[in-house]
Order: sequence, then structure tokens, then C-alpha cells
Amino acid sequence: MTQQRLIEQFNLRSRLRFNLESGHIWLGESRMLMFHAQAFGALRRELFDTLGVKRARGLLLRMGFASGTQDADLASKLAGECDPYDAFRIGPELHAFEGLVKATILDAKIDWERGTFFGEVAWENSWEVESHLQSFGHSEDPVCWSLVGYASGYVSYFLKRFVVFREVECAGAGAGAGAARCRIVGKPAELWDFDDGYLDYFKPDNVECTLRRLQDDVRQLKASLAARHEADDLIGDSPSFRAAFDLASKAANSPINVLLLGETGVGKEMFARWLHEHSDRREQPFVAINCAAIPHDLIESELFGVQKGAYTGAQQSRPGRFERANGGTIFLDEVGDLSPSAQVKLLRVLQTGEIERLGDQQTRKVNVRLIAATNVNLQQAIADGSFRADLYYRLATYPVTIPPLRERKGDIPLLATALVNKYAPIYHKKVLGITERAMQALVAQAWPGNVRELENLIERGVLLVPPGEQIEVEHLFAGGLPAHQAGVEIDRKGMVADASEAERRQLYDSLLHDGFDLQTHETQLLELAVQRAQGNLTHAAKLLGITRRQLAYRLKQADRDPPD
Ligand SMILES: [Zn+2]
Repeated sequence: MTQQRLIEQFNLRSRLRFNLESGHIWLGESRMLMFHAQAFGALRRELFDTLGVKRARGLLLRMGFASGTQDADLASKLAGECDPYDAFRIGPELHAFEGLVKATILDAKIDWERGTFFGEVAWENSWEVESHLQSFGHSEDPVCWSLVGYASGYVSYFLKRFVVFREVECAGAGAGAGAARCRIVGKPAELWDFDDGYLDYFKPDNVECTLRRLQDDVRQLKASLAARHEADDLIGDSPSFRAAFDLASKAANSPINVLLLGETGVGKEMFARWLHEHSDRREQPFVAINCAAIPHDLIESELFGVQKGAYTGAQQSRPGRFERANGGTIFLDEVGDLSPSAQVKLLRVLQTGEIERLGDQQTRKVNVRLIAATNVNLQQAIADGSFRADLYYRLATYPVTIPPLRERKGDIPLLATALVNKYAPIYHKKVLGITERAMQALVAQAWPGNVRELENLIERGVLLVPPGEQIEVEHLFAGGLPAHQAGVEIDRKGMVADASEAERRQLYDSLLHDGFDLQTHETQLLELAVQRAQGNLTHAAKLLGITRRQLAYRLKQADRDPPD
């Protein structure tokens, strides 16, 4: 198989997407950067000038190594169940695709079973040779450090053992008359016999160790800071969330009634639960009830209980939620939905600490802390006459507004990661987190359903991701990304394609994946058009871009050979 066909076979072009609106380039699930070779060359030069030859080489090589393993990961995904040898051979093409070098495999002896490997590759047009010559002129030693790191990382990933490539010939080396091309040779690390410290380049040096340790420290500090703002499910570090959280935590260990405000799905019940868990009532019951979920004529018996014989059907006495919450906390969600008479009774409980079961003369003392929540504007409800002002002032002594998710998008990575960790054990799965692209897509969503919607999406992602892998866009969004987020691909000639064309292609592409049957699709398309045209064949034909006669003929055909 020729190289051209390999790259087409894996449909690499469709994995490279440009999103000019958002400023992203994606290759598969990884964000890619496109910048001037000149600028990168200047950075490369500065590395040599400031860090010295050894450290600069090491940094470049390890950067290449990381990039090689990323590409190997992509290649293994693209290849799917193809021959692993093909997946391996697409490495040089990826390298060329990314504009780094033209690579040709000269020799490759691979035994996947035993993990043995020998490879020889020729390079032309190495970006690193060009850059090195511009900055420093010809070198005595080979110069393609990031490229040789890439090859090592790529093959190591596939072989699952440490494979080291080394340049044996370099167009950038050789005092004024370098070779026309570079040549690299690779084999498992232990089969090399280095005495010049070549392997040391693969190990992070002290500067980097120190940096990494510092980074770890920062991360830990951040995590412990965040931990102060997360308890079970209360996660967030953004200013608006922190403000709500701080307000709530001040009220936690007090008897004050709290009114939680915020849109549907922002996590009001989690806040209520958190308040309970952090109060001196934590050993006592927490009883939650959604007032909107219970019919008006049942809400009073549900809240306050029933005495036997109170009405037809009340064959047994039973306590209401208030009695069951005695000593603890009751959470009344959507309190704005309470019926007028339930409002009167609730007000009485708040004033006297006493309840009366339906059909009972006896009053019962209850010691219950009330946390109420609403997503409607209660003041408006008061103006409309549907909510009692006196009850409102009892409930709203301590209001806490929980911000919607779209106003704290910075918390999404934190939340998403926590939710993955929550659901992975539930589905008995090891999940390696979320890809960059999927995370970016999550952050870009509008989230009308707030945290609850995010939670649903992540749960779905955990369910769909293959074990041991990262959650990708396709695991989260059933219909793929909206066009403005998906970006456009490049066409066969390397031009950035028209968005609608790219979307169409993606649609066809997804259709062709499993058991495609053209006739079924055609029949369905015809039927849909006829349906839309409300049976008018002329209109339906117009929708399909064919004549009425052609449509009639095809419908007849479809009728005659019904798809199985
Ligand atoms: Zn070279």
C-alpha cells in the first residue's frame, strides 16, 4: 500500500479541523498549534544560548518524544482494528502531515509478539536542519533532536517498551558539506551501546525536575484550596461560586432558615445537604421534598401528616415530613409552588414550632431547621398574589443565590473531572479523564440545565468510553458537536474546506460506519420529503431536487422492493 493510500485510508484529513471562530485547530482530540517555524527556531536558538547544548538537546528531544507518543495514540485510534503494522507506518506520514519532515521508512523489522524492533528511516526537508543552519550554521553533531525524540516516542508507544532512535547521518552536520538527508536508526534501548551519555537526553534534567516539583506543589496547593470549597458534591473555585459557598458556610452551623435561590439544576439540593452535613444536626435526619412534584391536594398531608379518618381513604395515621425530620433539617424545594393553604400551615410551623396532622386536634412540637429553595421570583409571586408576603419574610431571612453554570465556566474542568471520578466506579470502569478537545467542548456549551445537565452528560460519557481510555467528544455529544464548534477540515488539495461541505461529509462519513443500506436510506428520505410536503408530490420532489415523475417512479420502486 502506498503512503498516499495509507493516509487516505485512515481519513487523517477529516481529523484535522480548523475552527476559525474559536481559534482552535484540532487533530483528533488534541489541540494543535500552528506557528512560524522561524519563531520556533528563535526559541530553539535561545534554548541553546541560555541552557547550553546538553540541556537544550534534552528539552527538544523530550518535547519530540511527547509529541510522538501523542501521535502514536492518535494513529492507534485511527487504525482501529487495522493491521498494527499500518498504524505504525502512518507515523512518518503524520510527521510529514504536521510539516516537520518528510520521512521514508528504509527498513523495519518488527516482531509485535516479542517486542523486538529494528528500524531505519530517511528524512528530507527536516525543519530542524533548516532552523539550525539559519541559527548556527553547520554543526559537528546531528541537529534533529526534536525529530529523533518524536520517532523514539512514537515507536516506544506502539512497542510498549523503550525504543531509542539516533541520527546516524544528518543534513545539518558535517562542516559545510552535510549529507543531503538525515538517516536515523532505532532499536530497544538496551540493545544500544552508548558511552556518550545519549540516553541521558531522555531523562528530565534538574531544571525540569525542579520545575515539575514546583508545579506539583502548586497543583497540590490549588487542590487543597479547592478542597476547602468542595465537600462531596459542592465543587467550584470561581468567584461567583465562592461567594455563594462562603455565604452558605457562614450559616451552616446555626439555626437560621436559609433560602436557596438559583435556576433549575444549579445544585440547590446539594447545598441544602451540605448545610445539613455541616450543622450540629448532621446526625439527625435530612428530609427533602419537592413541592412542585406533589399534587396540591396531597402536599399538606405529605408535609404535616394525617390522622386516621381525616378523610375517606385515610385508613391509617401517618406522620408527615416535618415530623420525620424532627431534630434535623427539612429541605423544601420549589417552595413557590405551595398551595395557599399549605403556605398558611407552613407559616404556622415557622412561627410556633408546632404542627397539626390533617384531621387531628392535637398539636405536636417539632424541632426542624428549614431550608427552602426556589427558582421563581418570589417577590413577583407576592405581587401576583400567589405567595404570602409574611411567609416570604420568614423564609428569606438568609438568602443565598447559587450562580448558573454559564457564569462559572472556569469551574467546568474541576466539576467534570470530579464527576468522572464519581461515575467511573459506579460503572466499574477505569477512565483516563477527558481529552482536551472534549473538555473545551464542555466549556463552550451554554448549559441551560446547569450542573445537573453536565452531570448527565458526564455519566453518559463514562458509560460510553472504552475502559482505560479518555472520554472523547463523541462519547459526550450524541449528535456530534454543533458546526461552529466542530471546525472545518482541509480538502484533498490541502485547502480549508467549506463548512457546510465538511459537515455533509461528516454526516455521510458517520452513516457509512455501521451496516449502511442505501435503499433504506433512500426510502426514508423519500418518505420524509413526502411527509414534509404533506403528501404533495410536486413539493416533495422539489425538496429532493428531482422531478415529480422521478419521485413517483422511485416511490413505486421502493414499494415494490421493500428493504429488509
Ligand atoms: Zn538531521
